[in-house]
Amino acid sequence: MADAWFRSVTVSPGVVKIWEPAVHPFFQANLYRISGRDRDIQLDFGTGVQSLPAFAPAGDKPLLAIASHVHIDHVGSFFEYADRAGHPLEAPFFADMRDDMAFGAMFRDHPEPLAVLPEGFVLADYRIEPAPLTQLLDEGDTVDLGDRLFTVLHLPGHSPGSIALLDERNGEFFAADAIYDGYLVDDVPGADIETYLRTMERLRALDVSMVHAGHGESFGRQRMQEIAEGYLRKHGG
Ligand SMILES: [Zn+2]
Ligand SMILES: [Zn+2]
Repeated sequence: MADAWFRSVTVSPGVVKIWEPAVHPFFQANLYRISGRDRDIQLDFGTGVQSLPAFAPAGDKPLLAIASHVHIDHVGSFFEYADRAGHPLEAPFFADMRDDMAFGAMFRDHPEPLAVLPEGFVLADYRIEPAPLTQLLDEGDTVDLGDRLFTVLHLPGHSPGSIALLDERNGEFFAADAIYDGYLVDDVPGADIETYLRTMERLRALDVSMVHAGHGESFGRQRMQEIAEGYLRKHGG
């Protein structure tokens, strides 16, 4: 079942992007499996309508599950992993997946959130399973995969505890919903435009080579600067 639900493509060496084609575009996020020499990362988890680990099981190495932030399109299958990391500011929300922060009800009540209903799936019963963090990740923390090292960036604005992963050696940047090539959501509970402006100033100056975002296609540094500058202009920053 999960095999038919997800799609995946290798976007760079050791990095597979996974998504859910049947999910409404507003809730359709990019999920990333990053493979290292000594361990792997699963960054974000989709809606949980189908099991992500059933589609992309852990290999023979330890797997760290990292949630970029607590929104429904990123955390549905988070509970299925044993080692769960995220930002301390959203720790209480991962622990209960309350609707006003994780937006499970927004998904359930959205017109046609799913183009296909999996057999046996009842939308009215949809809930996000609580997934308490077992590890906290904050600004400047590192995640070492043996042959590559990621630095955690805390980039609030879209949500209070949005985090991103930067491989400073090759400039590959996993931005999640901090920045993506599309309408930037800043008007939901937990979002804050003033805070987002500071994040955009930081992103505008960030030295990266490739941005893998939480939504849409990957892009380069110049496009990231354009998106950040567009947001700053829109809000007079
Ligand atoms: Zn998202
Ligand atoms: Zn989000």
